[in-house]
Amino acid sequence: MTKKFYLHSAIPYVNAAPHIGHAQEFVYSDVIRRYHTLLGEDVLYLCGADENGLKIIQAAQKAGVEPHKFCDIHQQEFLDVAKKLSVHFDIWQRGTNKNHFLSSQKLWELCVKNGDIYKKSYEGLYCVGCEAFYTSDELSKNGECFEHPGKKLDRVAEENYFFRLSKYQKFFEELIFTDTLTIIPQSRKNEMVALIKKGLEDFSISRTKERAKGWGVPVPGDTDQIMYVWFDANNIYYSGIGLGWNDELFAKWAPADLMVIGKGILRFHAIYWPAVLKSAGLPLPKQLFAHGYLTVDGQKMSKTVGNVVDPIKVIEQYGTDAVRYYLAREIPSYSDGDYSDRRFKELYNADLANGLGNLVARVGKMAEGKSFQLSATRLAQAPAKRVSFQQVNSGDYKKALEQYRFNDALAYVWEKVKAADKHIDEHEPWKLKGDALHDVLETSINQIIEIATLLQPFLPDTAEKVLNQFSTQPIQPQPSLFPRIT
Ligand SMILES: [Zn+2]
Repeated sequence: MTKKFYLHSAIPYVNAAPHIGHAQEFVYSDVIRRYHTLLGEDVLYLCGADENGLKIIQAAQKAGVEPHKFCDIHQQEFLDVAKKLSVHFDIWQRGTNKNHFLSSQKLWELCVKNGDIYKKSYEGLYCVGCEAFYTSDELSKNGECFEHPGKKLDRVAEENYFFRLSKYQKFFEELIFTDTLTIIPQSRKNEMVALIKKGLEDFSISRTKERAKGWGVPVPGDTDQIMYVWFDANNIYYSGIGLGWNDELFAKWAPADLMVIGKGILRFHAIYWPAVLKSAGLPLPKQLFAHGYLTVDGQKMSKTVGNVVDPIKVIEQYGTDAVRYYLAREIPSYSDGDYSDRRFKELYNADLANGLGNLVARVGKMAEGKSFQLSATRLAQAPAKRVSFQQVNSGDYKKALEQYRFNDALAYVWEKVKAADKHIDEHEPWKLKGDALHDVLETSINQIIEIATLLQPFLPDTAEKVLNQFSTQPIQPQPSLFPRIT
């Protein structure tokens, strides 16, 4: 049976247009999706729209648009960005879908049945930006949330439903400490270990209908309460694969093999969500990869500063694969990274125009009109005259991809670009004729085919063009892959 691989990325709040940080997470997830597909696995990548939070209704009111309409408009912007990035969602699950409501209510009832949901009065500090309560020791010195500096928290007092997380203290020590749920990188795991060691406390999972402004998934059996967005939003990962409305689909894909998220929402994915699943008797996700954040020109992206980068504009200016390359190569996937136009051009010219593009153009020109033998063992395994991916997926490249160190995987490929350049410089094929010329070019072509094969998860369009150019014989000239930019 073919191995299944189900991954999902965090579902964006659709209260504002997508920025370059969303593009980063989409590209990371798409690289993983393509990688596992190339390994011959049956892969499903789910993303969706978080539409039930208080932030949505506030943004909709501000825009003077009816909330459903508001969600329709903004969720489409995320789909547009993904498409332009060659990112493919197998499932796009929206929080306003009917089956999501059904599914989340079923999940709630399963937790009730297990005795893990109870009602109590509560007073706490609430960050609308995070849609979360914080204790004062979790806030900055000024009493502000770390994700939303400059914003005061609301003091909220009401009667809510709570989830009995404290009951699962031992369970989480086991789950996280022993890597049953693997958290990558280690630094993020350490954060969760510290949180668990402090002792897990029950958390609020509903809002009064009044405070939620009637927007969201109603709590079953209580007309006055709406599910807290972090209860139902995580369930998009499972409602999207059929939980509560399509048992066959759910059995096929659950559990998630990988969650891809930003570092700011770690606890919701490493603890809250698995706790709810455990309570409901549902299968738990296996792995979590938390990436860092993007700054722009060294500054946090913000509307006030006016430095929010629109990914569509960058893609239109430089091309899809160039943007994918920058995000995967320049940004260290384990920590924060920076986006700047200056660095974008620098990297583009050095690695894509002068590096890969120049190599392909040089060899393509010298090999024009000629036919070559592509390495025999490779031919045998690749009927379409392509190196089979499994054959070249090895060593440091493989290790890097398995640990989601995309920058390292690409560094490895660019070592191969350098080696191929060196091979040409050393043999000076322009001085050669006949068999000697043929042999040098044949080696170069096989090197290029290997490089393009390794680039398939990262630069799908470029890889396809290069593989087509060199596996179609006799070799035909092709337009430049990455024209230099100034
Ligand atoms: Zn916040």
